[in-house]
Amino acid sequence: MKPAGVVCIKICIVLLFLISACHQGVMDIQTIENETAPNLIFIIADDLGYADVGFNGSIEIPTPNIDRIAHEGVKFTNGYVSYPVCGPSRAGLITGRYQGRFGFSRNPLFAPNDPNMGLPIAEETLAEYLQKADYSCAALGKWHLGAHPSQRPLVQGFDDFFGFLTGGHRYFPEEWTLADEYEVTSQYDAYKTKLLRNNDRIEETEYLTDALSREAANYVEEYKNNPFFLYLAYNAPHAPLQATEKYLQRFAHIKDLKRQTYAAMVSAMDDGVGRVLDKLDALHLAQNTIVVFISDNGGLHKIKADNGPLRGDKGDLYEGGTRVPFAMRWPKQIAAKTVFVHPVITLDIFATMVGAQKRSVKTKNELDGVDLLPFIQDAKEGRPHGELYWRKFDQQRYSVRQGDIKLVDDGDGAQYFDLSQDVSEINSLIQERKKETVKMKGDHEEWLSHLIDPIFQGLRHDSIYNALHPDRFKRPQ
Ligand code: CA
Repeated sequence: MKPAGVVCIKICIVLLFLISACHQGVMDIQTIENETAPNLIFIIADDLGYADVGFNGSIEIPTPNIDRIAHEGVKFTNGYVSYPVCGPSRAGLITGRYQGRFGFSRNPLFAPNDPNMGLPIAEETLAEYLQKADYSCAALGKWHLGAHPSQRPLVQGFDDFFGFLTGGHRYFPEEWTLADEYEVTSQYDAYKTKLLRNNDRIEETEYLTDALSREAANYVEEYKNNPFFLYLAYNAPHAPLQATEKYLQRFAHIKDLKRQTYAAMVSAMDDGVGRVLDKLDALHLAQNTIVVFISDNGGLHKIKADNGPLRGDKGDLYEGGTRVPFAMRWPKQIAAKTVFVHPVITLDIFATMVGAQKRSVKTKNELDGVDLLPFIQDAKEGRPHGELYWRKFDQQRYSVRQGDIKLVDDGDGAQYFDLSQDVSEINSLIQERKKETVKMKGDHEEWLSHLIDPIFQGLRHDSIYNALHPDRFKRPQ
């Protein structure tokens, strides 16, 4: 070939390369613009202690998989729930709103014939919101937001459900002896019902925590081609304390049998979280999947949970009741090893998902949470929240957190703590800070004016409710 021909071919090759590169660049921009919004896996532990995860310092119970969420993303050292027991806490986090706004201020009773015992239909769940953004949504595990057919997961925004409707459940399949909710004869009897897959009762053979993990990994696989939301609500380590030999033998050195079993249950859950994270890795979905891990309330001392230096436990408005293990991973947006010290609350996850949408999708109701991403990324300086509020209606107890200051009356009279100096809430400064106390109490009262009274009776009213509703568990005709 003549030299001129060679040059011509070379020029053509270079031109082709440039066109290709340019085209690729355009494609890249288009890909970014068209990229789907992030997936969400919201993992909820039940009654887990603040200090019972590795990322909050646990040595006794290794949680290497749960720790990955914190270490590869952000650890919230001041992460709160909106209520110190299961039901109201879940009603808050799934609506992104203080649950007192819609009267969900008690732990609901299991009452499958009562359409008012649970989450009001007028509320929009995170799943209903994400369905409007074309997400596939699955709920796994504990529901506890209403057992009446009008309140179950499939009519609250979820495409799929695998789990149980009650506030807790037994863990061994051989103990699931009740065919359905209408064979239940008492509140805690409901812990023995067979599991539900969507609307059908099924036979399941695995230890409950393992079954939930298996199903979660399967849903990641099933939903992989579409934005998805998995609400993975483990009931571990909520009572009853039950674990298989596989997990118990990891803690044979712990002599206290309750603590040993508790540790085994947490370890089972940690294995399950690992299965889900591994599945994300295998499908190359990890980068754009938000994984959140929380406990629905503080650890319960009675089951040997450890809240570290925090005062009190489940049910309390002291920090041990409301401050929980809280971590979030989103590799595409959040730098690994981030530690966020300002107060955040589980209500923020809904708002963060709204902020993460690539197109505007409006929420039905006003949210109380805040999009955390700009704060985590430092784009917004300061604290996400001016104040956070809690109320226990029946007990007439309350608390407010403003900055590092906490005003709390948890049955011991009003107390004022500076958590930056006194995380254990020992030294009340109420006498020295009367002016500040009046201001915070006033703010709390203003917040109360936006709440309504409870719309249903709760666990503490079980016998009263039974007397009023003799057909409580009766099979509908
Ligand atoms: Ca709980």
